[in-house]
Amino acid sequence: MTNVSGFPYQAAMPPAGATCHCNLCRSVAVVRLIMPLPTISGPDADSPLAIWDMCKLHWPSLRGACERSGHPVTDTTGDLRTVQDEFGHWNVWTSDAGRLYAACYGTGPDGPHGITVDAFLAGQLRAQMHAIDTPELHHV
Ligand SMILES: [Zn+2]
Repeated sequence: MTNVSGFPYQAAMPPAGATCHCNLCRSVAVVRLIMPLPTISGPDADSPLAIWDMCKLHWPSLRGACERSGHPVTDTTGDLRTVQDEFGHWNVWTSDAGRLYAACYGTGPDGPHGITVDAFLAGQLRAQMHAIDTPELHHV
């Protein structure tokens, strides 16, 4: 049975400098949504793709609309469970709106302090966590 409903959409990293495709919005895009356009025979590997770059303001509502219409959004930049496994001393969680968070306790000059980062894609979250975990890379 071919049914457009249920065919997953893909969330990916937008290219640098991409801006939001929403009407009159020129904010920096944080997520690129790739969705196969419906065809008569249903979506398949050869389906043409529609691409939407979305800013952090507009992405959560678009994502919500996709899921309400039966299209789960697949994060192509990584898997949150993998990120959690990789960074065992961080707590990783996700909000209802699909925003991703990670928190850890770091040791600074004033003692332990909490650090929280957030992102919309697992790959973005991982990059921020990695930057905090390896600060020496930024002082070369
Ligand atoms: Zn926007």
